[in-house]
Amino acid sequence: MPTIRQLDPHVADLIAAGEVVERPASVVKELMENAIDAGANAVTVEIAHGGMSLIRVTDDGCGIAPDQCQTAFLRHATSKISSEYDLEAIGTLGFRGEALAAIAAVSRVELLTNQGQGLGTALSLEGGQLVEQEEAGCPKGTTMLVRDLFYNTPARLKFMKKDSAEGAAVFAVVQRLALSHPELSVKFIRDGKQELLTPGDGQLKSAIYAVLGRDLALGFVPIKGSGENMEISGFVSLPTCCRGSRSYQHFFVNGRYIKSRVMMAALEEAYRNQKMVGKFPGCVLHLTLRPNSVDVNVHPTKTEVKFQNEQQVFATVYHGVLAALNADKTRPQAVMKSVLPRQDTVTPNQTSFHDVTAPVTPQRATTPPPAAPVSKPQSTPSPFRRVTPLEKVVDASPVVTHKPVAQEKPKPEPVEKIAPVVEVEKPSVSEKAPPVEGKPAPIPVVEEKKAPAPVVEEPVVEETPAPVVEPEPEPTPQPQPEPWVVRGELFHTYIMVEQGDKVVLIDKHAAHERVNFDRLKAQNYQPMVQELLVPITITPGPQERQVLLDGQKVLEGFGFQLEEFGAGSIAVRAVPDYLETGDVEPTLLELAKKLRLTGWADPSAARDEVMHTMACKAAVKGGQRNDPQELERVAQKVMSGEVKYCPHGRPVAIELTRGELEKQFKRA
Ligand code: ADP
Ligand code: MG
Repeated sequence: MPTIRQLDPHVADLIAAGEVVERPASVVKELMENAIDAGANAVTVEIAHGGMSLIRVTDDGCGIAPDQCQTAFLRHATSKISSEYDLEAIGTLGFRGEALAAIAAVSRVELLTNQGQGLGTALSLEGGQLVEQEEAGCPKGTTMLVRDLFYNTPARLKFMKKDSAEGAAVFAVVQRLALSHPELSVKFIRDGKQELLTPGDGQLKSAIYAVLGRDLALGFVPIKGSGENMEISGFVSLPTCCRGSRSYQHFFVNGRYIKSRVMMAALEEAYRNQKMVGKFPGCVLHLTLRPNSVDVNVHPTKTEVKFQNEQQVFATVYHGVLAALNADKTRPQAVMKSVLPRQDTVTPNQTSFHDVTAPVTPQRATTPPPAAPVSKPQSTPSPFRRVTPLEKVVDASPVVTHKPVAQEKPKPEPVEKIAPVVEVEKPSVSEKAPPVEGKPAPIPVVEEKKAPAPVVEEPVVEETPAPVVEPEPEPTPQPQPEPWVVRGELFHTYIMVEQGDKVVLIDKHAAHERVNFDRLKAQNYQPMVQELLVPITITPGPQERQVLLDGQKVLEGFGFQLEEFGAGSIAVRAVPDYLETGDVEPTLLELAKKLRLTGWADPSAARDEVMHTMACKAAVKGGQRNDPQELERVAQKVMSGEVKYCPHGRPVAIELTRGELEKQFKRA
């Protein structure tokens, strides 16, 4: 057995340093956190060669006293905690007193610092050893210069990626810190080029705008909510602005960037059945809770935390996000791209992320222009009267104007909407919704002058409350909804509704699908079952057949009665009555195809799939002629704000403003 020896302190330091300082990004994180802890208002981060050759972090914080400068570089030297009890409630970002020691051990460091009175201090170290310390004139604050990272640890150096990759990691760290500290003005300079400057005005929205860009900022809605002993605030993407990856999800706990499965799951659960499959919401979410109900000391780089009560965190995030999404009343705006003579009209397409409040770029320009332009929209009561093919349909029933009347009281969210992941005792949006300031957003109720056909055959699905989420920075009063009127239908696909100074185009299939889906999803849903005298036999493939038979019980809950029926077939003896007989087979076959791989293993996902399929099949189809009353009913659901996204996250309606049209016609 070789002799056991205590490591030389220098070697021990290098090993310890490896835990804190993995790459340039970790150095920048530690130095920026020190600046924040020092009460800085502005911090500048400068790197060269991805931070490998140079990292400079300058702040205007409190500075370090001349006789403390060397101490700061000792291991476990910190001014932030002094006893084990302080560990229970850490209010600063740093606390281990390891960062400066670790960074200094593996680089050449220069420190320039001044507390704001008299001369400051300049100090330099190499591989953790003091080279010199002297007085120096410099402004209040601290500058840390770190050169030649890992110059004395070649093994570590080998693991570094390309400068561009290291630089990108540094930038990500800087961005997160900028997002978590909107009160701090953050500047980032890479190889002499400024890449970021946040205003430091204390507004999260400003920081988001600077860091994530205009596109993303425009697709965000504010959220503010609270749970037991905790608060959630920030911004989340609208369902139509979700993206292809999770890289736009930023979670912070007590101001610290973290990775959290719980928060991520809660966020995404709130978008269930509202966003497109394979898309992920972006967010900047700040959770604030008592320091002692979260342990930040579980991971060396402190990016993972342990919550004392994960369920409460889940519920707070989930309800906060859901309330924010429900409160949003905006619709994607269609903006015509350019004015070219004889150019085909715009078909506003599926709004991409870009398009939501921003212009919709036409993707197909193959649609023929509508019949004739309107000559005098100002005085004509019905500016769209010349859209001929539809006129007949609409004119069959006199035009009905809908006026919003007194508000309905918000009803609590049905229990079913609660995320299954967590057991929450009394889930109800209204309960968990953020404290209401001001009046609840008006929920327009449509009054019909002409004998209205009831909206679908059964009582209207309870409207989810529109919890008031105070917008940031200033709450804008919800404008009183204006009366609207259905003006016709385009391509037998889009219902055209005129409301005040805009036209709302409703995708009738998508909207109807959502209406159906919500009805199926309502907690009190009881299928009206229609027994068939002659059963429908379907012959799916062997795997599909198995899936359907495995799901017999669940499907029964939705009104389907299935039975094995020799030779690879299935007999359908009863069906939900609102599905047309002709739609039964396609519904079941499509469902079986969708569930072939996953089966019923995740019961709630599978149930959603059943509802999606039924809702889609029972919905009016694009291209199909529909009775005007049917269109009225669909329009009513959309105009009341009850229906916003189809179950796959596509918007059900877009708006085209009169202003936009007038621009095109050169009237404005
Ligand atoms: P920790 O942040 O965990 O306390 P560090 O090694 O990062 O440990 O820093 C050691 C100490 O040096 C800090 O506790 C603080 O007192 C001082 N310090 C470091 N950076 C700064 C700075 N930018 N401004 C003022 N003081 C600083
Ligand atoms: Mg520190």
